[in-house]
Amino acid sequence: MPSRLTAPVTEAQVQAVISDTKMVAGPTRWVSKSNSAWAEADWPIRHELSGLTLRLVATVNVRMPQKHTASILWNDVRVAGVCVQTPHLNKHTDSERFHWEAHEHVWTDLCNGSWCRSVLPAPSSIKEAVEVLCSTFGVTFQAKWSDPLLEFQSGVVTL
Ligand SMILES: [Zn+2]
Repeated sequence: MPSRLTAPVTEAQVQAVISDTKMVAGPTRWVSKSNSAWAEADWPIRHELSGLTLRLVATVNVRMPQKHTASILWNDVRVAGVCVQTPHLNKHTDSERFHWEAHEHVWTDLCNGSWCRSVLPAPSSIKEAVEVLCSTFGVTFQAKWSDPLLEFQSGVVTL
C-alpha cells in the first residue's frame, strides 16, 4: 500500500494547486480518530482546477493540544502541510533538522521524502496552524470555526 507521504503528483501539479484560487466554507465538524486522543476535521476545498478533489484536514491531540497539524490533500494524498511539535529531518533539499519547530511541507515528485522550511512565527493552536496553512498556500478560509477542545470538554467529541 503506498504511503500517505509519497506524492504521486508532480511539482508542476502541486504548484498549480498552490497558485489556484481556493476557498473553504461551511461548518467545522470534529471527529475523534479511533482509539486515540486525536480529533480531526476536514473541509472540501473549492477550486478552479478540474479532475481533482482537494481537502483541508486539521488534526489535534485533545490531551496535548500543542500537538497539531494541518494539511492539504489531493485525492487523499497529502501534498502540502504545516507540522508543529514534530521533530524530524528535512530529507529533500538538505539535512536541516526541525527540532520542535513549526515548519511547512510540500510533497511532490521532486522530493525524496518532503521539502520543508521553517514557519515564523510558530502557530500556538490548531486554529493558528490552519490560518498559517491557508495563508501559505493561498486558501481563503470562510468556514465557521469551532474549537475542538471545547467540543471535547462539552462531550460533542468523545474519545
Ligand atoms: Zn514535518
